[in-house]
Amino acid sequence: MTFNELGLKEEIQRAIQELGYENAMPIQERSIPFMINDNRDLVALAQTGTGKTAAFGLPILQLLSVEKKETQALVLAPTRELCIQIANDLKSYAKYIKGLKIVPVYGGENIITQLRQLDIPPQIIVATPGRLIDLIERRKVNLSKVDFMVLDEADEMLNMGFVEDITTIFEQTPESRRTMLFSATMPAGIANLSRKYMKEREEISIGKKNSGTENVAHVYYMVQAKDRYLALKRVVDLNPDIYGIVFCRTRQETKDIAEKLMQDGYSADALHGDLSQAQRDGVMQKFRIKNIQVLVATDVAARGLDVNNLTHVINYNLPDDIESYTHRSGRTGRANKTGISVSIIHSREKHKIKDIERIIGRQFEQNQIPNGMEVCKKQLFHLIDRMENVEVNNEQLDPLFPEILKKLEYIDKEDIIKRFVSLEFNRFLDYYKNAADLNLNERESFRDKSTGGKFDKGGRKGQKVRLKISMGDKDGINPKRLLGIINDTVGDKTISVGSIEVTNKFTFFDVFADQADKVITAFGSQEMFSVSEAKGNRVGEGNFRARKSESSNNRRSDSREKSYRRGGDAGGDKPWRNRR
Ligand code: AMP
Repeated sequence: MTFNELGLKEEIQRAIQELGYENAMPIQERSIPFMINDNRDLVALAQTGTGKTAAFGLPILQLLSVEKKETQALVLAPTRELCIQIANDLKSYAKYIKGLKIVPVYGGENIITQLRQLDIPPQIIVATPGRLIDLIERRKVNLSKVDFMVLDEADEMLNMGFVEDITTIFEQTPESRRTMLFSATMPAGIANLSRKYMKEREEISIGKKNSGTENVAHVYYMVQAKDRYLALKRVVDLNPDIYGIVFCRTRQETKDIAEKLMQDGYSADALHGDLSQAQRDGVMQKFRIKNIQVLVATDVAARGLDVNNLTHVINYNLPDDIESYTHRSGRTGRANKTGISVSIIHSREKHKIKDIERIIGRQFEQNQIPNGMEVCKKQLFHLIDRMENVEVNNEQLDPLFPEILKKLEYIDKEDIIKRFVSLEFNRFLDYYKNAADLNLNERESFRDKSTGGKFDKGGRKGQKVRLKISMGDKDGINPKRLLGIINDTVGDKTISVGSIEVTNKFTFFDVFADQADKVITAFGSQEMFSVSEAKGNRVGEGNFRARKSESSNNRRSDSREKSYRRGGDAGGDKPWRNRR
C-alpha cells in the first residue's frame, strides 16, 4: 500500500517521500488507518526495525493541532538512545509541518538544557520515564492535555523496572487519551498494564507472538565451557565480513571477551554499563559506521543501539529468559535482510535450546565448529575476492609500474599469485596448523555430565569450574563472608564451594561444573559484584564438601589449585594480530 492511499496530509507525504519511503510497512498499513479512523486504543506486537516509529508517529502528526501550544502527545521509550532516535525520526517526518515542536527528554544529560526547551510546551514530548517524572515534579511538564500516549518497547521498560514510573505517568494524563503500546513480547506485566490503563483496544501482531524473526536462522554450536572463546573466534573467522553483536551475561564477561578479541587483533570493542555515557556513545558510533566489526555487549547496554544490517547475533552465553533471546536475535534479519543468530552452548544448556525452540516456534540447527582448514579456506577465498574487487588507481600506479615490472620479471604469474596470497595467508595457516576439534559430541557431553553428578561420603565428585568474583582482600572478603554472599545471592543451599583463594582485588573459588551457570546467572542479576569463569577455568575432578561445613578448609588453597594456576590460560590456540 502506498502512503498516498493512507490519506496522510500533503506535508507528511512530502517528507516521507524525501526519505525514500515508497510503500507502507505492514505495521504502518495496519496502524495508520486505524488511528486516523477509529477511536480505540492500540496494542501492537512488533520487534524493533519493523517501522514502528512511523506507525505511531504519522497518525499523531496527522491528528494533533499545531496551533495549540500544549503537550498533546507523549512517547515513552526505555533508553536515551531510543528516545533521541524517535525524536529525530519524528522531526524528519514533521519537516514540513510549521509550528510543531518535538522535544526529547532523557536521563544522563544536563537537565538545565532540557528545562529551557520546555519553557514553551512542545506539542510532542519523547521521554524516558525517570527523567519525565523529574520534570513533572519540577512542574516543567504538564500532561493534562495529552491526547496520545505511546509506550515504545514496553517490555523493555518493564524489564528495566519502570513499571511504577509508567503508572505515575499514566495517572497524570487524562482518561480521554488514546494509548498505543508497542512491544516485542507480551509478558504478563504488559498484559496487566494494558488491562489497567487501556480502554477498548485493537491488538495487532506483526509476525507471530514471541516469534524469532522470519529472516533469522537460529544455529548453535556445542563446545566445552572452557572452549567458548575459541569457538567464538572460529565463528568470527569463518565469517570475514561479519558485522555483529556478541552478547555476554555480565559486565565483567563483556569486558573480558572484548579485551581478548582486541588483543587477538580483531576489530572489536565493548559496550556495557561501566562505561560513561560519552564512552558508550563513542563505541556505538564506531560500530554504526562499521569501524568495529564485532561489538561485545550486555543486553542492557545494547538496548539503545539501533543498527539494521547486522549479519550475526552471537549468544556467547544463552540468556536466562527466552524474551531476551527473542530481543537479541531480532536485532538481525531486519529490513528484509537475512541474519544468523548463533548460540555457543555447553551440553548442560541443550534443554534451553529445546525451550527456546518450543516458544519461538523455530528449529535450531546444530552446526559443527569448523576445523582449521575450513576456516583457512574461507579466509583465503575472501582475500581473493577482495583482490578481484579492489579498485586499482592507475594514475598513481603508472609512474611506478615499469620499476615494479622490472623487479618481478624473473617470477612467473603463478608464482606471483602464490606469493601475494601467502603474504596474507601464512598467518592463518600458522595459527590454525594444529587447531583442535572444539566440537563436543554427545558421548563426551554424557561423560561430562555423569562425572559431575557423582557423590561420595565426604562430598560430591566431579568436574569443577573455577570462578572469579570481583571482590578481594581490599573489600574485606574472607572465605566465610564469600560463602555468606553466595548463599544470599544464589539462594540455593545445594551449591558446593571448593577451594577458595583470596587475592587483593579478586577471589577465586571452585564450584561443580553443573552448578557454575546457576551461580554466574544469580550474580549476573545484581550489580554490586560480578562473577565470571576464571581463565583456564576447568580445575579437574575432586571432592567437594557441603558449603556449610566448608569454611575452615577453604582457607588454604590446595596443591591441585596451584598446579592449575601454573597451567595458565586454556588458550594455546594463539591467534594472529592486526588482521585487518
Ligand atoms: P523503526 O522500526 O521505526 O525503527 O524503523 C526501522 C527502519 O525502517 C528505519 O530505518 C526507518 O527509517 C525505516 N522505515 C520505516 N518505515 C519505512 C517505509 N515505509 N519504507 C522504508 N523504510 C521505512
